[in-house]
Amino acid sequence: MRILLDEEQLQAGVERLATEIDRFYGSDRPVTVIAVMTGSLVLFADLIRRLSMPQRVGVIQASSYRGGTESGQLDVSSDMMIDVADREVLLVDDIFDTGKTLDRLTGLIKEKGAKSVKTAVLLHKHRQHEVSLRPDFVAFEIPDEFVVGYGLDYLDMYRNLPYLAVLEPAEIEATEHKSKQ
Ligand code: 5GP
Ligand code: MG
Ligand code: MG
Repeated sequence: MRILLDEEQLQAGVERLATEIDRFYGSDRPVTVIAVMTGSLVLFADLIRRLSMPQRVGVIQASSYRGGTESGQLDVSSDMMIDVADREVLLVDDIFDTGKTLDRLTGLIKEKGAKSVKTAVLLHKHRQHEVSLRPDFVAFEIPDEFVVGYGLDYLDMYRNLPYLAVLEPAEIEATEHKSKQ
């Protein structure tokens, strides 16, 4: 594995992200903060504890990578989602890649009557995006490589790593075997 961002760098990035978000909302404005599961799990826990505004917290499930490292069909499950009508909403995701996930979710939350929708991501991939939406708050810009760790997975593994890394080709193969156990 090639480490791209270590634990200390990640924590510093989350701190910067929280400062930016705090500056935007202030400390009195209530915000409904929603985690895009499952990739934002680790970031979300670290981020919300650093934000000072009153928060309602919820989750939404979206999966696009369908097991592999190539972007595929996007599945969204919002049945159990926290109520967003007339609320100020902040969507938190792990990474902005093609942008399709956050574009779709932003639209969905607006349709449900949110007063405002902003997006925060840990990572912004340097590549051609497929939508006109851009994330409002970004901690790190990264090159166009498939990364794992700090919530991001390959075949649902590696989410628990405290750092962010790029998998070597041999590790990709080994993961296919390990993930079946
Ligand atoms: P988008 O819809 O912006 O193309 O992709 C967003 C989702 O794809 C992310 O929430 C994440 O789950 C997944 N994804 C995109 N790039 C990567 C990557 O480099 N590594 C991992 N593990 N997941 C990624
Ligand atoms: Mg995701
Ligand atoms: Mg994934």
